[in-house]
Amino acid sequence: MIKNTLLLGLFAVLLLNSCKGVQQNLDNSILNNTTVVPYQYYALINQDSIATNLKKLASDEFQGRRTGEPGQKKATEFIVNFYKKRGIAPPKEMDGYLQSIPSSFMKPSMMKLQDSENILAYFEGTEKPEEVLIISAHYDHMGILLDQIYYGADDNGSGTASIMEIARVFQQLKEQGIQPKRSVLFIHLTGEEFGLFGSKYYVQNPIFPIENTIANLNIDMIGRRSKEHSGKGDYIFAVGSGKLSKDLYDVVSSANKESINLTIDYKFDDENDPQQIYYRSDHYSFAQKGIPAVFYYNGTHDDYHLPSDTFDKIDLPLLTKRTQLIFTTAWKLANGEHRPQLTEKKN
Ligand SMILES: [Zn+2]
Repeated sequence: MIKNTLLLGLFAVLLLNSCKGVQQNLDNSILNNTTVVPYQYYALINQDSIATNLKKLASDEFQGRRTGEPGQKKATEFIVNFYKKRGIAPPKEMDGYLQSIPSSFMKPSMMKLQDSENILAYFEGTEKPEEVLIISAHYDHMGILLDQIYYGADDNGSGTASIMEIARVFQQLKEQGIQPKRSVLFIHLTGEEFGLFGSKYYVQNPIFPIENTIANLNIDMIGRRSKEHSGKGDYIFAVGSGKLSKDLYDVVSSANKESINLTIDYKFDDENDPQQIYYRSDHYSFAQKGIPAVFYYNGTHDDYHLPSDTFDKIDLPLLTKRTQLIFTTAWKLANGEHRPQLTEKKN
């Protein structure tokens, strides 16, 4: 008699294979259907792939991914292998995927931090390759404190898994001969939790000229619901999109209407926001250099910066929808007629 557990395992494999078949058919129907408008490629964003990567990133193995520590180095290796395996290359201008940040750069932190790395993956545009859209998410978190692992599933395993999935779909499209007009650079930033160091380092040592960087979409915590939005419809906070460029604000909003239609909450754009959220993630480093930037965010929750920010609490369907929205926004920016123009300041 075969053990129950083995039977279950066999059943699971069969089920998994049939699901894969369904996904494959769905993907093919999107890719081969000429009536599909390009922004509807967002349907290729897949919840299972996001979940697989996020579960891994927020596992014991990566020990809370503290900047420069062995757990984060393992996460670095995992992310780099993800790109290598799919044939997604780093920028030609670099020797590999890693931009090293010396510990001396991170001196202003109250914590002693070891050398650490940003990870970069790149898609070259077909018509305006010199114009670059940056999609970023920090992958470091707080590590181990008092023998407890801070898993950082939402902060920022969610953003990390999200940009990996967006890159995977860009590659899937590329393999079908569907490529963006402009270039797209994916950056997994390090050192965010201790002072936005990865993004500060990048803008001081950019791989592509700052003036050719058309916009930054930054993702930091998009896997949960905040209290004020619990029990209500699907939403996301978009922070800062209109601060430098009305064009970026318009694309953020129209991409949403044309795709997944979440409620976009802009409340953190208020200059008097008591939490000053606009200044608290990596998009701000790009905005300070005059690059139109938007920060996608779910708001805070009871597990914020605690060991209890774990994978089981992630709202996977909502994380997937938010990723679909951000993919659509990226696709529109990379293919739009014009890059987002800076809005002239009225004094
Ligand atoms: Zn954080």
